[in-house]
Amino acid sequence: MHGGDKFSSSVLITEEVKNAIRECIVFAPLHNPPNLKGVEAVEEILPKVKQVAVFDTAFHQTMKPEAYIYALPYMFYEKHRIRRYGFHGTSHRYVAARAAQLLGKPLNELKLITVHLGNGGSVCAINKGKSVDTSMGHTPLEGLAMGTRCGDLDPALILHIMKEYELTISEMDNLLNKHSGVLGISQISSDLRDLEDDWPNKSDRANLALDVYSHRIKKYIGAYIAVLNGCDAIIWTAGVGENSPIVRSIVHKEMDWLGVKLDLEKNEVTWRGAEGDITTPDSKVKVLVIPTNEELVIAQDTIESINR
Ligand code: AMP
Repeated sequence: MHGGDKFSSSVLITEEVKNAIRECIVFAPLHNPPNLKGVEAVEEILPKVKQVAVFDTAFHQTMKPEAYIYALPYMFYEKHRIRRYGFHGTSHRYVAARAAQLLGKPLNELKLITVHLGNGGSVCAINKGKSVDTSMGHTPLEGLAMGTRCGDLDPALILHIMKEYELTISEMDNLLNKHSGVLGISQISSDLRDLEDDWPNKSDRANLALDVYSHRIKKYIGAYIAVLNGCDAIIWTAGVGENSPIVRSIVHKEMDWLGVKLDLEKNEVTWRGAEGDITTPDSKVKVLVIPTNEELVIAQDTIESINR
């Protein structure tokens, strides 16, 4: 999962690579250890078989310092490599390349914003095929409001809540990662299908959760249009992105000043598995739904890494 700032592409696994993955455990304590265990188990059973590491973070290594440095004392970056890394890189990369094919233009001539919304979610600003900014940070907790994660927050609140409720670090971690987001607001479910069912006539809290979720996405899209100085297309992908006409319509409502005009009928009928442009012909910025295909990128990277 986490390659820190050591890997900007997929690599053939060697002892050195394994050590580097081990060094990144501090960044992803729940993911990198089982990833390594899998690699070692395969080494034991199939010692001659080559293995390749494909990192969730690698695609975002093209970000410049102004996008990845936090406004903390610089020592935390220098000494501990605390910075924005970003995630879902394989998915953002796949849909950006696929969007270029669908738009019939070279990727290196396009400004794209990719919106990956599954249980976790992140937005990425992509210029000429390179990630220039993304909403997840040092960990996947930053950015969008997600199924159970809070996303962006006033950091002072963490201190305040811990103090008021006398929470331990792991209790607070649990609250922010597992009990917040749309589940936290709605107190119904982390699954958007449960909130969308009978929308907008469900409960006020279900509607509020959907509105907060969508508003945050809209804000990031606006921010990334500014970062990119324009945008050719916005791409929706993953569980919610591919399947939720409701979220797509809330986010893109009143974005015509930015050149986005949703075709409500096309938006309504574009579901999982289908690729499609859901804007009107006069929409300056195209909005595409593209099912992600991380497995394909992993397979292609594997072939390339083995043959390198
Ligand atoms: P993923 O991690 O990409 O498989 O996405 C899983 C999430 O997608 C689920 O938790 C749901 O919130 C969301 N999802 C899946 N299908 C739908 C749907 N038909 N409408 C809205 N959200 C959906």
